[in-house]
Amino acid sequence: MKKKRTTERYTLADLDNWREATRSPRRLDPPIRLGVFGDPVAHSLSPQMQNAALRACKIDMQYARFHIRANELRSALSVLTELDFIGVNLTVPHKIAAANQIDDVDESARSLGAVNTIKIDNGKLRGFNTDGPGFSRAIREEFSVDLRDLRVMVLGAGGAGRAVAMQCAKESCERLVIVNRTFEKAKQLATELQDFFTGPKVFGPVPRLQVIGWEEAAIRFQIGNVDLIVNATPLGLNRADAAPIPARLLAPHVMVYDTIYGESRTPFVSAAIEAGARGANGLSMLLHQGALAFRIWFEREAPIDAMRRAL
Ligand code: NAP
Repeated sequence: MKKKRTTERYTLADLDNWREATRSPRRLDPPIRLGVFGDPVAHSLSPQMQNAALRACKIDMQYARFHIRANELRSALSVLTELDFIGVNLTVPHKIAAANQIDDVDESARSLGAVNTIKIDNGKLRGFNTDGPGFSRAIREEFSVDLRDLRVMVLGAGGAGRAVAMQCAKESCERLVIVNRTFEKAKQLATELQDFFTGPKVFGPVPRLQVIGWEEAAIRFQIGNVDLIVNATPLGLNRADAAPIPARLLAPHVMVYDTIYGESRTPFVSAAIEAGARGANGLSMLLHQGALAFRIWFEREAPIDAMRRAL
């Protein structure tokens, strides 16, 4: 009989009544043992990427999408063990909330205060965060450089901005400039990171760790003193959005990485190209954070080529 694969979006009500939800009109084969929780979640590319990985490794399971609202997270997490799940990914708005709702959080997630991957291990829910390491691998893949050799400017100090900034700090980047619309949030993040920047890697007249407001003059000054600019704001999610930094402020020497992903160029990547600079969108970060999650779940390397093809 032909196998039934899932294309559906499940809910908390389905998890509460899992046998029924996955039986009608006929039993799902292979069974769902992994998924992503989010609200919204319909746009998530994780199912196509992770299902390709599972097929490539001949692991007889499926990865599904779960529309779980903020106030439903605790209930949704509580049933995963009895349903024999291997783990889940978390996306907006669950990453921060989950950190206090699971049994154990590893160092990567604790330092960020956010969890994007949960593994069920001997009945316990363990949390990890693969966004930062995924970002680091994406930069190496896109631009053939390591963060430790770069002067980085990050736009945004929310979940993604924190993951990017923390990773740059942990890898001892040359310099880090945090830019955020709400200045206080950027300052708070810099305070958390300052111990990483006390080393002797100082050159030039600019500080190694700096916070600036979202102002044209300040950004223009910094462009000459950074190599990589990362957009970690939602600016560009809508095609009609302007680039977070316009082409006229960019320069050919910078590399632009937009954590926003899509099939075509994001407004920021277009601005980079217009300025004669190199640009890449966030698909590579999505790929690598997913590959690292797969490694956590199955304790084996992810089939990265199959995952990349699926995206
Ligand atoms: P978040 O926690 O809500 O943070 C959003 C950040 O963007 C905040 O710093 C916010 O500034 C800033 N911001 C929002 N609207 C802005 C505007 N109109 N102008 C300037 N700044 C604005 O969201 P997040 O979880 O960090 O996600 C941000 C983006 O990262 C998402 O859109 C997603 O596409 C991307 N992302 C990609 C990956 C990947 O694998 N490629 C992974 C994670 C996230 P304030 O502090 O002033 O509010």
